[in-house]
Amino acid sequence: MTTEETLAQISKEVALCEKCALYHSRKHGVPGEGPPNAEIMFIGEGPGFYENEQGRPFVGAAGKFLDDLLGQAGLKRQQVWITNVVKCRPPGNRDPLPEEVGICNQYLERQIAAINPSIIITLGRYSMGKFLPGVKISSVHGQMHKVGERYVVAMFHPAAALHQASLKPAILADFARLPELLEQARKGLGRRGADVDRPQPSTEETPKQLSMF
Ligand code: URA
Ligand code: SF4
Repeated sequence: MTTEETLAQISKEVALCEKCALYHSRKHGVPGEGPPNAEIMFIGEGPGFYENEQGRPFVGAAGKFLDDLLGQAGLKRQQVWITNVVKCRPPGNRDPLPEEVGICNQYLERQIAAINPSIIITLGRYSMGKFLPGVKISSVHGQMHKVGERYVVAMFHPAAALHQASLKPAILADFARLPELLEQARKGLGRRGADVDRPQPSTEETPKQLSMF
């Protein structure tokens, strides 16, 4: 199977999944989206109201802010992969339970393996906790961590920064450093830039993969 086919297969399974209780409150599963050859993968918490309505990640207010933050780093949403630790909306936007995160993790793991991103950016505590258990976001945000064979950077959740103005300068500064962090991760992995050794999207609508770096 190609990466694209593997990701489509995972999305199909998510749409029908009944492995944890969150399927009861789901209108649409939100598997995540992005180009199969994305070098940057964002992992948020879980779908909210609008995501559940549309079946797409980060399409509400936090998503708009995420688009702005990406723009600031010279990136478009269509160039990155975006998903969450749980693929179905917790009722009333409550926090996902550890058990739900644990069960849904199988989809996330398969997505990470298929995409094989150069860098993973965690947004919020649950995705940070998966890679960097026991750390405090206020002390580690924006720092590069090697976790196994992967490079991981924790950033504040865009929704948190929307609600707490004091976090805004930090999230802006962290996102502005994304190109530099990606370059560091590429070096560490012995990968060259996207336009050199990764397959290029073939259609006109798909922006050239990170060609500006
Ligand atoms: N917040 C998240 O963590 N994920 C989404 O998809 C939307 C909002
Ligand atoms: Fe399945 Fe994950 Fe949805 Fe739970 S949250 S039903 S494990 S896809």
